[in-house]
Amino acid sequence: MEFHEIQNWLKEADPQRLERLWQEADATRRRHVGEDVHLRGLIEFSNHCARSCAYCGLRAENHQLERYRMTAGEILECAHQAVDFGYGTVVLQSGEDYGMDAGWMARVIARIKRETPLAVTLSLGERSEEELHMWRLAGADRYLLRFETSSQILFQQIHPPLSSDSPGRVELLRLLRDMGYETGSGVMVGIPGQTWNDLTHDLLLFRQLDLDMIGIGPFLPHPHTPLGARTVSLNNPERVPNSEETVLKAVALTRLLCPKTNIPATTALATVNRTKGRELALARGANIVMPNLTPLRYRLLYEIYPGKACIQETATECQKCLEARIRRIGRTIGIGRGDSPNLLERTVATGERP
Ligand code: SAM
Ligand code: SF4
Repeated sequence: MEFHEIQNWLKEADPQRLERLWQEADATRRRHVGEDVHLRGLIEFSNHCARSCAYCGLRAENHQLERYRMTAGEILECAHQAVDFGYGTVVLQSGEDYGMDAGWMARVIARIKRETPLAVTLSLGERSEEELHMWRLAGADRYLLRFETSSQILFQQIHPPLSSDSPGRVELLRLLRDMGYETGSGVMVGIPGQTWNDLTHDLLLFRQLDLDMIGIGPFLPHPHTPLGARTVSLNNPERVPNSEETVLKAVALTRLLCPKTNIPATTALATVNRTKGRELALARGANIVMPNLTPLRYRLLYEIYPGKACIQETATECQKCLEARIRRIGRTIGIGRGDSPNLLERTVATGERP
């Protein structure tokens, strides 16, 4: 599929024609990644952040947010809970937190790997090559770093660089892949200033980067951020709306472009449509969900945008709710690590170590 066809689908408004897209995406998902939905336990272990992203409530300039950093013991407790719940992966996520010592992080990763059979995914922002290497050696399996938008101009506007010599997210993704990480990225849909051309290029970049995991969610305004406070003209026809339907089209097209990649039904989408957001994503190309394991007292403070879904439920409630939702739509819960079929194919083809 090429640029114009992708863009036509993104702009398509006829529900009958869209039905064809949904069905093709679902059939492709079934053929390439099967009926299993893999569960990744999310641990949001620190909300400290040195960055000034114009979209995110964790940005350093948001002084209204109380900051926390979980202890190694608390993180390990969550990891053991993931094992008890039958999850195959934990995702350790945080702001870009330079108060978090890289050696400490390596020891936490090594302990999780020693004490549990879990795959460990990191989502810690743009870190140095030495740190990324150290964490890989400690046993981390995967790294998530969304490039947010393929438009360099828009990205620079919403994500000011920390230093002039930082390599950029696309370059970091290539580095992570060379280090042997299973590599994930993604975008927000409906960032103020994002055009249909930008979003079309985003989807083509997913394919070009040969990603193992791709997360797509709506941009959700946070009032204590520059983008959340700004009023944007809604009647610009070139502007991408942050609507549920646009996100679902992007998910479905991503499944067609990258058939073997793992695609989560994101919490941001579930925030826009609490009753059916996750189910619709799973029916239109997604095959992963990320139940939250963060202790409630911290979860409330990991406020990247307001009104986040699943903010009041305990880890046990999240597990039960998500498993019931998956079974209700006739899908099965994945057992084991749920490595990306895209990575498996690449390692067979190249003889690389997974
Ligand atoms: N700090 C790390 C980073 O930036 O990669 C990981 C944590 S960050 C909170 C995870 C993701 O949250 C970002 O990649 C971004 O796409 C998403 N996010 C942040 N603010 C958002 C907003 N206002 N609406 C929707 N998604 C948002
Ligand atoms: Fe920090 Fe990540 Fe939020 Fe940017 S998106 S402010 S790096 S937590």
